Amino acid sequence: LLDPREILYRNWGFSSFKGSQEKIISAVLENRDVLALLPTGGGKSVCFQVPALARDGICIVVSPLIALIQDQVNALKEKGIKAIALTGGISFEELFNLLDNCLYGGYKFLYLSPERLQQEVVLERIRQMNINLIAIDEAHCISQWGHDFRPAYLECAKLRELLPEVPMIALTATATDKVAQDIISNLEFANEFVVKDSFERTNIAFKVKQSEDKRYQLKNLCLKSHSSTIVYVRTRRLTLELANFLNAQGCSASYFHGGITQKEKKEKLQAWLDNKVKVMVATNAFGMGVDKPDVSLVVHYQIPDCIENYFQEAGRAGRNGNKSEAVLLIDHNDQQLLKKQFLGSLPDPSSLKTIYKKLNNYFQISYGEGHTENFQLNFNHFVSTYGLNAFLTYNALKVLDQYSVISLSETFSKKTSVKF
Ligand code: ADP
Ligand code: MG
Repeated sequence: LLDPREILYRNWGFSSFKGSQEKIISAVLENRDVLALLPTGGGKSVCFQVPALARDGICIVVSPLIALIQDQVNALKEKGIKAIALTGGISFEELFNLLDNCLYGGYKFLYLSPERLQQEVVLERIRQMNINLIAIDEAHCISQWGHDFRPAYLECAKLRELLPEVPMIALTATATDKVAQDIISNLEFANEFVVKDSFERTNIAFKVKQSEDKRYQLKNLCLKSHSSTIVYVRTRRLTLELANFLNAQGCSASYFHGGITQKEKKEKLQAWLDNKVKVMVATNAFGMGVDKPDVSLVVHYQIPDCIENYFQEAGRAGRNGNKSEAVLLIDHNDQQLLKKQFLGSLPDPSSLKTIYKKLNNYFQISYGEGHTENFQLNFNHFVSTYGLNAFLTYNALKVLDQYSVISLSETFSKKTSVKF
């Protein structure tokens, strides 16, 4: 067994672990099943790569996207670490060759998509391998409550049956309890060790802007934004409309949604990554694998489905640590819709008090850079909650406040005098 710090330094050049990495790695090396909830950029890969290198044998890594797999395999190869990717589009013969390499070639990592676990030949070979660790990356894909549910991820449980003695580590940046519980039960974790790092994104100012002219606000925000920008909308039609609008206003924009061809997707993404266009107007199809460090602004032009989606999407801002903004634009219509949804979901008026109290725990409100209509939300409490759609409720309460059903301003009067 090699020393984890030594392995980190020799292969990555980092002199210390960050966040909970060391705790996680120790738990893995104690053969516990680990669930690691670390934010994007938190350094999840090292959490399974270091312990796998510390031991004899090969580590199986399940990952949802070819692009993610390729990136990691290439990064390992650059360090001189032997890694193999079983992605789509390889012939049967190649598949056999690659699997043989895992058996006899001294390889340390076998990356595969969950669909590969549906192939008997793959399972058969895995059974023969000397496996030291099973890593399930982007593990929220196993949960229906996650934002990217992928039925094939349920196949990961087969690995547990096949290799009952081998420890598992599941990693994700989705922090809700519901998803965490799903991961633990679907992977049949035993003696599990759950680690959660802070998800607070201190460099992102989360703002809600009320306006009856959202296009005007959008134009101003996008023109002011000093680098790459994402605008999330809920319909495919609107991606095109707003991209046209922004282009007409002298702000270069493109659009992206699930209905365009694979080729178009690739081209549009690349143009945005290369800074040939500044703004990407997109539906939530523009998501996983989009990892541009210098996004300075994420706008939600319409209210997202749920708080998990909101956090993932808004969280694409400021990956490089620079100050950035996440702005939600809402108008009267949005508020009406929310009010309807919210009131419809309430059993009786007395329950308002409970929600109001809960809400008070979920948020800390502070001044947002001196703008009275802006405020920052502390997401620390926010993302650790589930069951109540706090974000929608919060906005709905703002609406209710206007209708004097409940006085929200009072709620926060101790902390701030911001008027809603
Ligand atoms: P995640 O999967 O959690 O989004 P990654 O594993 O891709 O994060 O790592 C994000 C970045 O952090 C990478 O550039 C990685 O090299 C870096 N990193 C990981 N561990 C450390 C560390 N201990 N010290 C400094 N940088 C680190
Ligand atoms: Mg990762």
